[in-house]
Amino acid sequence: MADPHNDTVFGMILRGEIPADLVYEDDLAVAFRDIAPQAEVHVLVIPRRHIRSLAHAVENDQPLLGHLLNVCAVVAAREGVADSGYRVVTNIGEDGGQSVDHLHFHVLGGRRMNWPPG
Ligand code: 5GP
Repeated sequence: MADPHNDTVFGMILRGEIPADLVYEDDLAVAFRDIAPQAEVHVLVIPRRHIRSLAHAVENDQPLLGHLLNVCAVVAAREGVADSGYRVVTNIGEDGGQSVDHLHFHVLGGRRMNWPPG
């Protein structure tokens, strides 16, 4: 059940209050296209449960975190970038560039990624 206290835009998406272009969902996770894509493929994978960031995850979240990474790989395969390669990123806090306080993994693909990241 969607958390009524999740005051983030992703909470609104989980509650169906604003639309999102969903590409995957299961009991634990949802994936949808980023509203401002930075690559041909740019999908956000989030847990249904509100965890503010990776820094807020605890030991008991280990199975969920593993599941989210697995969903990233499933999404990448569905989006057709498993063979060409892709990047999975989670931004944490201010210096990490996090703008939405609900844990999310960016799945980026369809173009060559740069390193080091900006
Ligand atoms: P962060 O900056 O926190 O790592 O990533 C947040 C991401 O959420 C950004 O890439 C931003 O474009 C995306 N985003 C923000 N608001 C919305 C929204 O309402 N819908 C969707 N689909 N993506 C959003």
